[in-house]
Amino acid sequence: MTGRVAIVGAGLAGCLLATLLARRGIEVTLFERREDPRVTGPERGRSINLAISARGLEALGQVGLRELALSRALPMHGRMVHGRTGQPGFRPYSADGKHAINSISRAELNLALLEVAERTPGVRARFDHRLRELDMATGRLTFETAGGEQRVPADIVLAADGAYSAARRAVTFRPGFTFSQDYLEHGYRELTIPPRNGTFALDPDALHIWPRGTSMMIALPNLDRSFTCTLFWTAGEFAALTAPPQIRAHFAEHYPDVAGLIPDLADDYQHNPVGSLATIRCWPWVHHGDGGTLALVGDAAHAIVPFFGQGANCALEDCIEIDRCLTEAGGDWRAALERYERRRKANCDAIADMALDNFIEMRDRVNSRVFQAQVAARHFLERRLPGRYVSRYELVSFTTMPYARIPDRMRRQDRATALVATGVAGLLAAAARQCFPRRHGLTRRNSLTRRNGR
Ligand SMILES: Cc1cc2nc3c(=O)[nH]c(=O)nc-3n(C[C@H](O)[C@H](O)[C@H](O)COP(=O)(O)OP(=O)(O)OC[C@H]3O[C@@H](n4cnc5c(N)ncnc54)[C@H](O)[C@@H]3O)c2cc1C
Repeated sequence: MTGRVAIVGAGLAGCLLATLLARRGIEVTLFERREDPRVTGPERGRSINLAISARGLEALGQVGLRELALSRALPMHGRMVHGRTGQPGFRPYSADGKHAINSISRAELNLALLEVAERTPGVRARFDHRLRELDMATGRLTFETAGGEQRVPADIVLAADGAYSAARRAVTFRPGFTFSQDYLEHGYRELTIPPRNGTFALDPDALHIWPRGTSMMIALPNLDRSFTCTLFWTAGEFAALTAPPQIRAHFAEHYPDVAGLIPDLADDYQHNPVGSLATIRCWPWVHHGDGGTLALVGDAAHAIVPFFGQGANCALEDCIEIDRCLTEAGGDWRAALERYERRRKANCDAIADMALDNFIEMRDRVNSRVFQAQVAARHFLERRLPGRYVSRYELVSFTTMPYARIPDRMRRQDRATALVATGVAGLLAAAARQCFPRRHGLTRRNSLTRRNGR
């Protein structure tokens, strides 16, 4: 069955999916609530630059966009950690220092995907179409448009309309539908570091982090030599700063090396919106009604917090999986979509957990000497045991290993290294005993006892 296929949301997932389906000869209509982005510019304070890594690049490669994306991105080979004092420290992402994640504008990547979709015969894009209602009994979608309400029938609805999906609402109260939306107490607000004397004000080869214990700021480079900074603060922290002198004083105290690089600091801070961050989990992702079938894709199925830089990578991976499942199921939508949700759910849950965990790593642990020693030890093991010991960061960012396999792999690796460490400690102890046998040497306690005459 092909039927009438509607994709709701012309974001990253919606556009990629439209292209992949049209290439299979399936006609698709892509509905987007916003105006055509080629006509309107980006929203203030919502520039968001993404870190795209192996999974996203692999997916983009399927529609010939990998090289274009890389040419419009800036590689970041590691983290630059800024303390309150002293010089910032660079920590490479991979043991060999060669792997990089890539900073790219989300709007620009979206535009590239949209253009590929629109060039693909079989894709029709409809902007200014905000989904208001999906009736599962009739398969009818109701859109709000500038010209009034429009009703469109569809047999297959692919909901790629983001974390706060309107399509998902059609099934939210269905018996058996499990849904959770966990807000982080931190929101995010963007600031801009413009170029300085025509060049980057900070090292562009790094993702910059200012870890401050309970909160943090990060900065990613842009092609125009600016940086987009993102503050991840609690609502209370944002609310506590209001007046420009107060804002400037706060940054001078807590982010001293960067405060002077943001000329519009107070203005950006006061006027850029604060976005919220949530982890959304639900199940099932695929629903059948008398009128048709609905499948949730990307953030609509599994929004995650951005601290592993994987939300978009994961959403793009979903599209590849749907395409693969359609091939395996010989074009049978029902079988393909059920296969898709079964394969993706555990993976998306796993990256959601890892993303939450990485927030603590970025805002706090990166500062600790113990953590730095652990990273150095992991990199040492990676160099000594190439392919056998691989860090979690590398598995997530530089491979396409299913996310759900990574925690287990880490547990096995950690057990093995603990055994090796115990073995090495034992060998060292034995060697020490041989070199410094007790009868020929005095322990510290013995020498003190002798000196004290006891
Ligand atoms: C601060 C921040 C930083 C991030 N950094 C990274 C990163 O470094 N790496 C990474 O991989 N991911 C990152 N992400 C996550 C990433 O942006 C998302 O995971 C990704 O955009 C999800 O793609 P999507 O297509 O599923 O949804 P979206 O990109 O949200 O697209 C949804 C589309 O649906 C449209 N839409 C919404 N409602 C309707 C409606 N009712 N009717 C019609 N259309 C509708 C929207 O306008 C939009 O075009 C970050 C997110 C945030 C907030």
